[in-house]
Amino acid sequence: MLGFAVLTIGALMNAALNDNVLVLNRLWQAINVCTVERAFSLLYMGHAQVVFEEGGNFQTFNFGQWRDFTESHRGDDVVRTVSFRIRVPRVILLVFFDRLPHKDVKFTRHNIFERDHNTCQYCGKRFDRRDLNLDHVVPRDRGGATTWENIVCACIKCNTRKANRTPVEARMHLIRKPKRPKWRPFINVRISNVGHDSWKHFLDLAYWNVELGEDEA
Ligand SMILES: [Zn+2]
Repeated sequence: MLGFAVLTIGALMNAALNDNVLVLNRLWQAINVCTVERAFSLLYMGHAQVVFEEGGNFQTFNFGQWRDFTESHRGDDVVRTVSFRIRVPRVILLVFFDRLPHKDVKFTRHNIFERDHNTCQYCGKRFDRRDLNLDHVVPRDRGGATTWENIVCACIKCNTRKANRTPVEARMHLIRKPKRPKWRPFINVRISNVGHDSWKHFLDLAYWNVELGEDEA
């Protein structure tokens, strides 16, 4: 860690160290972005690997391998240190989950919509946000809490039908059990913020496939 810190201070002068790098979790799901500087630090500490795509194949590299790879593949995105050159990573893959602080997802309307993918949790249909309500699964006046586990998106039709009843009473089923997301939902990386072409594959994947926060358990 110290070694790289010294290099960083001493030598990484020509880099766009504040550029964004896409961060994937161990399941190759996009979860965040970090700076190039942070990415190098995670890479150097062995907490992350570089993901590099060539001809449709994705390869991973640890710090040493990536440095060697840089030597054999000339490119522009290179950071120069006193003793070597290293290519700027654009996508990294976390090797561990527990080496980064878990940030609690803020319990907001926006994040609930994100978690539920703007989908009514009763009929399973997607809606525009303005056509979705937040529903207390167990109604508030029956002791239902306002928590991740008891709040879901519901369309106006389902919400009205359920009224002030539990799902059992209303004979309505949740399409999935509501949970607190473990990772920050995928809200910081907007398509308009695509930092690099190589992100696109993972952003598409994340958008279509990820069940946020439910995969790391
Ligand atoms: Zn519905």
